[in-house]
Amino acid sequence: MRADVDLDIGRKTFASGLLPELIAALRRSHPGDLVAVVGDEQSVGPELETWCRFTGNPLVEATVENGRARFVFRCGAAPRPAEDNRPVGSRLWLYTNFDCNLRCDYCCVRSSPTALRRELGLPRVQRIAREAAELGVKEIFVTGGEPFLLEDIGEILAACASVAPTTVLTNGMLFAGRRAESLHALPRDRIVLQISLDSATPERHDRHRGPGTWARACEGIQRARAQGFRVRIAATVSTDAEADEFGQFLDEEKIAAEDRVIRGIALRGSANEGVALGRADLVPEVTITADGVYWHPVGADDADLLVTREIFPLAESFAAVRRAFDREGEHANKLARIFNCA
Ligand code: SF4
Repeated sequence: MRADVDLDIGRKTFASGLLPELIAALRRSHPGDLVAVVGDEQSVGPELETWCRFTGNPLVEATVENGRARFVFRCGAAPRPAEDNRPVGSRLWLYTNFDCNLRCDYCCVRSSPTALRRELGLPRVQRIAREAAELGVKEIFVTGGEPFLLEDIGEILAACASVAPTTVLTNGMLFAGRRAESLHALPRDRIVLQISLDSATPERHDRHRGPGTWARACEGIQRARAQGFRVRIAATVSTDAEADEFGQFLDEEKIAAEDRVIRGIALRGSANEGVALGRADLVPEVTITADGVYWHPVGADDADLLVTREIFPLAESFAAVRRAFDREGEHANKLARIFNCA
């Protein structure tokens, strides 16, 4: 992750002069800037993390590069937060495959046509659905990469919809032939299609997602509606001005408030701009991938948001996420924020 301020602290710790350096770095930074602290003492990590929490400058990345520890914290809280009282575990996210027909430049989980397929698989999804029924899951969100690349996506969605209202996140470009048939059999009252459309005209959408993708997404929206599905439109934007402009477009199109999602770019995955988000910024939404259970869908390919590699029993993986959230909650001046993906 690129930083705005780089601080090489050598072997310094909080016992030997690190604090004044951090304060000086904060003084020459602006809200939202990222400060990278590089040092030779990995043991400084826990104290630095505590300092980040208590000063309200969240740690958003911790890595080891060339044998040196590198920590990145953001100056100040994430912008545009919205409080949410949704209980942990009421929303369940499934990443079905990770590969995608597109290569969007801000994809938070690095999906692309060349990304390795990491498939959750129908048997695991069916077991998740069975166990989720006992755990108070109120909504299920299915995302890919692009879920409609999967031959059995119809059965996967049917399994989820049998337990809870299900939203499938898609770029909307594959609703033809066999895939259109898999849509055909799905219950319209239990499945919502959340289709990505970033702008009112092709330029911005195509710049991030590839030439011609805006027109094909619009076609996908029309096809889904023609089949009788409720469609939610989801835009990823870089600025508040872009969000306002797209909101006006949705007003003109008479898209209901509950059928729109407008969110900023998260500085994760393939993105090289956007809001840097760490655990402390995010209310957990249990997210299951082939690789394990994650804190939130926005970081489902990132080790810092991995909670456990064991998916089953599902009750235990939900409990692990709740325990991790409780630990976060112990930090008195933490404010968990929601980053809306749906
Ligand atoms: S943002 Fe969505 S459509 Fe784009 S590469 Fe990632 S998964 Fe695919």
